[in-house]
Amino acid sequence: MSDRLYYHDSSLCEFEGEVVDLIPASEINRRHGVVLDRTAFYPTSGGQVHDTGFLTAGSPDTGSKLRVAEVVELEDGRVVHYIEADRAPQKGTKVYGEIDPQRRRDHMQQHSGQHLLSAAFVRLFNMPTLSFHMGSESSSIDLDTPALSAQQTEQAEALANQVVQENRPVAVRFVSQEDALTLGLRKVPTVGKDELRLIDIQDFDLTPCGGTHVRGTGQIGAILLRKIEKVRQGWRVEFVSGQRAVATARRDYSTLTAAAGLLSTGIWELPQQVRKALDESKAARKTGEQLLEQVAELQAARLLSETPAASGRKVIVRVWKDRDLAFVKLLAQKLTGRESGVVALLGSTLGQPSLVFTQSPGLPFDMGTLLKTTVASLGGRGGGNKDLAQGGVPNGAGLEEALSGVASGIAR
Ligand SMILES: [Zn+2]
Repeated sequence: MSDRLYYHDSSLCEFEGEVVDLIPASEINRRHGVVLDRTAFYPTSGGQVHDTGFLTAGSPDTGSKLRVAEVVELEDGRVVHYIEADRAPQKGTKVYGEIDPQRRRDHMQQHSGQHLLSAAFVRLFNMPTLSFHMGSESSSIDLDTPALSAQQTEQAEALANQVVQENRPVAVRFVSQEDALTLGLRKVPTVGKDELRLIDIQDFDLTPCGGTHVRGTGQIGAILLRKIEKVRQGWRVEFVSGQRAVATARRDYSTLTAAAGLLSTGIWELPQQVRKALDESKAARKTGEQLLEQVAELQAARLLSETPAASGRKVIVRVWKDRDLAFVKLLAQKLTGRESGVVALLGSTLGQPSLVFTQSPGLPFDMGTLLKTTVASLGGRGGGNKDLAQGGVPNGAGLEEALSGVASGIAR
């Protein structure tokens, strides 16, 4: 067992210890593992992620610093520091440990914030916390509840922040399992241990926990609740505390300001303005579609009147540079819908060059086969049925000639 110094002092970031065991690098973990008799490094456990920092063999001034990249706890209670170094210090070496204080403070803020939030949800709505997860951007708790409203979330956030502002003391107490059961803990431990470490937020929350916490709730700074979502076992509440809350609020504000700038409005007016812009764009799209329909109708009429019939059939060949495939298809439909005996061999070179073959119902040709042969000769792909087919080709060169070729084949 390693003596865990953070159990008694979460703000301790420098300590001395001795190497008592080594875990050789392996295929699974390519780093050397170092076990010390005592450590202030927190190993990943209970939803909280590990500390990082340095171990220095010998004197902190002259010894070489070994970076601690990961810290884990083994089932037997040993804490393993995985270091980024070619070789590990020998057993018996005295080492000087330094923990990244910013990362530790951040973790203390997230974790202590979690205690307050979990307690707030129990006090206000009797919703126990099932699990806690600390992420690199935000943390989350899963609540045991079938429903959770935005209003409840805001109330819990307000209560938790009230306790932050009251700066209540956070004490660590060690009690026997037997005694603990009489104290009305928020969470009853499942694993049987002789002694329990309790985190006591004065007159607000008492719960067993092995993590690192602030000394007074004021050090949490602020708690900002984010997304809530239904998960399999209940509801997940995402949150950020401390400096992360400030950084997140700053990012939100910058994003909102940028969006508001695009719409030339203030950030509080954004929802109405976005709604208005969406409605306008929907209306404009509808108008555009109606106009396109009319243009296709008119153009179809003109093409049909310009094209003389031969043997009772009109064959229309046309390639557009400034119309897209959707319009060409619309036009094809209008051409064959208006008159019988029409064959339309159309193309567009706007964007991906494409072609559409169509004929009025009852004509004897096979548009699918004709189109397949044509696109194949141009290095493209496509297909369709007897009356309507479409395809794409790599480039527009030779498209008009190819369509004219098909037209003269039909005329023969
Ligand atoms: Zn805790």
